[in-house]
Parts: sequence; C-alpha cells; structure tokens
Amino acid sequence: MNKIIFSPHVDDAMFSLGGAIINWVEQGLSVRIINVFSNSVSSRGFGSKSTDKAESLARIQEEQSLVSKYGPIFEYLNYNSSGGRGNFFLRKLISAKKQMLLNSDKNIKKEFENYLRKQIFDDASEIFIPLVPQQRAHIDHLIVRNTCLEYFSDKQHINLYEELPYCNIDSSYEDYMQKNDITPILYSCDYAKKSNAISAYQTELRPAWKVNIEKQYNSLGGERVWLLDNMKKKVDFLNF
Ligand SMILES: [Zn+2]
Repeated sequence: MNKIIFSPHVDDAMFSLGGAIINWVEQGLSVRIINVFSNSVSSRGFGSKSTDKAESLARIQEEQSLVSKYGPIFEYLNYNSSGGRGNFFLRKLISAKKQMLLNSDKNIKKEFENYLRKQIFDDASEIFIPLVPQQRAHIDHLIVRNTCLEYFSDKQHINLYEELPYCNIDSSYEDYMQKNDITPILYSCDYAKKSNAISAYQTELRPAWKVNIEKQYNSLGGERVWLLDNMKKKVDFLNF
C-alpha cells in the first residue's frame, strides 16, 4: 500500500507524521510526500515574509538529506505562499467559512486541482492531509486541505493529520469527531528516531517547537490522525 502525504509546507509532514513515515518506509511501504507551497518560508506563520527563495531552497536541501537516511520520496510543487497569509481579517473570514480566497489564491487552488487531476493515485493509496483546527487556520493549510477534500470526496479514504508543532485540537473538534463517528488512529514510533530526523530542518526548527512536538507525542502516546471513511464524512467536514 502507498502512503501519500500532502504537506502544505516543507516540514509539515515530517514534523507531524515523521515517526509514522519512518516506520512505514522501514516496513517497505512506498511513502510519497507532496510539498505544495514549497517556495514559502513555511511554518513561520502569518506576519512573516511569505517568500524567500534562498531560505526555501535551504529548507528543501535540508529535507533532501532525509531521503538517503529514511527513504520517503519528496515532491515540490513550488507555489509561493498564499497572498492572504498575512491578512488578519481575511484569515478570520476564511476561518469562519473557509471559501473567501483572494484571486491569486483561487489561481493556486485551481492549479493544485489540475495537478491532482493529472496524477494517478492508486485505489489502495492512503491519503493524509492536514486537519487545520480553525483557531489556528493558516490559509496555505486550508487551501491544501479543502482542495484535497473536494478532489478525493468520492475516492479514497482520507486521514486528517494533526499538524505539529501548533495543532492543539480543541473541544469543539473533539465533540464534532465524536458525534460524527470519526475515529482517531494513533501511530506510535521510536521518538528518538523522529527527533533525529526532524533535526535536519535546522533553519526552521525552533527549540520551542521541538518541545511542543515532543510534548504532544508524549501526551497522546503517538501521532494522531482522524479517518474520514466515507463521502458524507468528507463533505460534512469540509463544511464544519
Ligand atoms: Zn505549514
């Protein structure tokens, strides 16, 4: 079985699911990580400069050092960060109802949809996309999540992964998941290995983030994803 992980930025997949990814590769599974906004300076959040060529290239180089050691395949779609990223009011609107995008972001979304349409995703592939808790809505993440939810709505099951270091799922999400019979799946790993792997992202990883990632791992006992296993669950979640 193939694992396909959509990573809004270079680092999201490994920070969030790095332990599981290393395990899957060791088990001989094929793991493909599709970095969407790889021209962006990634997880620094809103308020930071959205694009810096040298920095984004450095990030990609750091990530590439993981290939020989751990074996996942990384792809880079090279979109710049969304134009709405630093816009607080737009962010609020998108957080509230998600579909308020700038024209430039609509274009990125369309290009990303076209990309998905051109891919051949094996029916047995398992898809992982970011969960994006509303209170932490980052437009890049929302674009990736919503585009994938729409594209895969009548196709494969979808796993929503909790993005680290920021993701702290709140009670409204917990309630929603419970009410809608969306089950959590916990992946445990050798945390020392994950820690070692994510240290490769030297230009990005802040000490406080590493602490958060480890704390979350310890409190859950693993890396958590939520399984959307039918079309109704995917469509409902998109409108949640
Ligand atoms: Zn990100």
